[in-house]
Amino acid sequence: MLSDHGCFWAYLHRFKHDYSPECPSCPGVIENAEYVFFECPRFNSQRDLLESILHQKIQPETVIEVMLSSRASWNAISTFATEVLIDLRSIEKKRANDNN
Ligand SMILES: [Zn+2]
Repeated sequence: MLSDHGCFWAYLHRFKHDYSPECPSCPGVIENAEYVFFECPRFNSQRDLLESILHQKIQPETVIEVMLSSRASWNAISTFATEVLIDLRSIEKKRANDNN
């Protein structure tokens, strides 16, 4: 989740010029892993739920520490990351289809 790879436009853009590295919902914002997980408003509802489970805001500097603090935190963060990645993958597929 922190490697900046996977389905992110910024990553894809290095290989496929069909893709924009911008977030589809935030014009002018480059979509990378940190932005998607910690900031993009598309995932506000999932992020709010996660933060209510963790009783704290998630931040790039502290997320690893929080994940390792308890099994419940680990599970909550990995569920969030999985949901975000599934969502990005379906957007990616839709864009690929639209371009064909
Ligand atoms: Zn966004």
